[in-house]
Amino acid sequence: MVRSLLLSPVARPPPRPLSTFISSGLFWLLLPAVAGVGWWFGQRAARRPSPLTGSGYSQDYFRGLDYILDEQPDKAVEIFISMLEHYADTTEIHWVLGKLFRRCGELDRAIHVHQSLLSRAGLAEQQRLMFVHELGVDYLRAGLLDRAENLFREVVDSGHNGTHAEVSLTGLLEIYQQEQDWEKAIFTARQLQNYRRQGTGLMIAQFYCQQAELARGRAVDERACLEQAMAADPKCVRASLAEARLLAEDDQLERAIGTLQRVEHQDPDFLPEIIRPLLHSYRGLKRTDSGLEYLRQVYSRRGGISMLMELAQHIATAEGDEAAMHYLAAELRKHPSVRGVNLLLQYMVGVADGSTRDELSVVHEIIGRFLEHEPMYRCRQCGFRAHTLHWQCPGCRGWSVVKPVREADAE
Ligand SMILES: [Zn+2]
Repeated sequence: MVRSLLLSPVARPPPRPLSTFISSGLFWLLLPAVAGVGWWFGQRAARRPSPLTGSGYSQDYFRGLDYILDEQPDKAVEIFISMLEHYADTTEIHWVLGKLFRRCGELDRAIHVHQSLLSRAGLAEQQRLMFVHELGVDYLRAGLLDRAENLFREVVDSGHNGTHAEVSLTGLLEIYQQEQDWEKAIFTARQLQNYRRQGTGLMIAQFYCQQAELARGRAVDERACLEQAMAADPKCVRASLAEARLLAEDDQLERAIGTLQRVEHQDPDFLPEIIRPLLHSYRGLKRTDSGLEYLRQVYSRRGGISMLMELAQHIATAEGDEAAMHYLAAELRKHPSVRGVNLLLQYMVGVADGSTRDELSVVHEIIGRFLEHEPMYRCRQCGFRAHTLHWQCPGCRGWSVVKPVREADAE
C-alpha cells in the first residue's frame, strides 16, 4: 500500500538558487514538518541509539531533507515513502508526505494521507486539529470549498486558540474572499485580529469597500459601508476616492475636495488618482486656479510625474507650448522621466519648424508607441503589472498593493 503511493511520476521542477527557494515559500511551509521529524528522530535516538542514528534511517532523513532544500519534492517523496517500509506507523513521516504530495499538486494522495492520519486511534487533540486543518487545506487547493470550510470551522470552533486556529481562520478568509462573501470575510478578519500583530484593518476596510461597490446606486448604504471602511483603516485611500465621488455626485464639491486631499496623508503613492476628480470639483466651483495651486504645492512636497505633467499641460493651455516646454525641461533635469520627456518632445514639436519639427515628431511618436505598452500600475509585492488599478492584486491576491508606477521603479 505504501509503495502504491509512489506509482505516478511527479514532474520535477528545475533547480533554483537557495535564496529563491527560501523566498518561494516551500522551504518555510515544509520546515516545521521536517523539523518535527528531526525532533522525533532525536527523541528516538536518545532512547534507542541504533538503528536510527546509524547509517540507515537518519541518513534517509537527511537525504529527504536535502531534496526538499533543493526544491525537488518528488525525490523527497520517494525517500520518505521508502522510510515508511520500516516505520509505517510513524505519524510524523506521513505528515511530511501529506505536505509534499500537496506541494506536488497530488491532492488525492495528500487527502488520502491526511484522512488515514485522522483515522488513527489515540491522537492527542492538538495533533488531531492539525490534521483536520491539513485536510482542509487539501480540499481548499482542490477547490472543494464547502468541505474545506467545514474542517477549518471545526478547528476554529474547537476552542483551542493556538496556531491551528490562526491558520484555519486564514483558510476561512481565503474561502470567503474566493466566494466574495464579504460579510463572513469581515467577521473572520476580525477574529484573526486576535492573532496577528500587524492587524487586519487594511483588509477589513477593503472588504467594506467591496460591499460599497455592491451597494452602488444606493447612496445611503454605500456611504455606510465607506464609513465602516474608514473606521477599520483610517488610511484607506479607496474609501476616500469612493466617498469623494459620492459627494461630487451629490454636488457637495467642497467636501469632495477635502476628502480627496486626505489622500496625501493616507498614502501619497496614490496621489495620481486624485488629480482628475480633484480638478473636476474645483472646476465645478469655478476655482480651477485654486486646484492648480493645490497640485503645485503637493508636487513641491511629494514630486511625481503625473502631477508634473498635469501642471505642464495647464501651463501649455494658459501660456502656450514654449512656457510649458521651459517649465518641464527645468523640472525633468531634477526628476528625469520618460513620460515627461515625451511630453517635452510634444511641446518642442509645437515650437519647432521645418525638418527639425518633422524629426522631433518621429521621435515623439516612437517613444509614444513604446509608452503605450508600459503599464501604469504595478504591484509593490509581486511585481504584477496592469493598465488599470486593481485593489486586490490578481497576481499575489494582496490588497492595496497595486499602485501607480513611479518612474524610478518602472524597471
Ligand atoms: Zn501582487
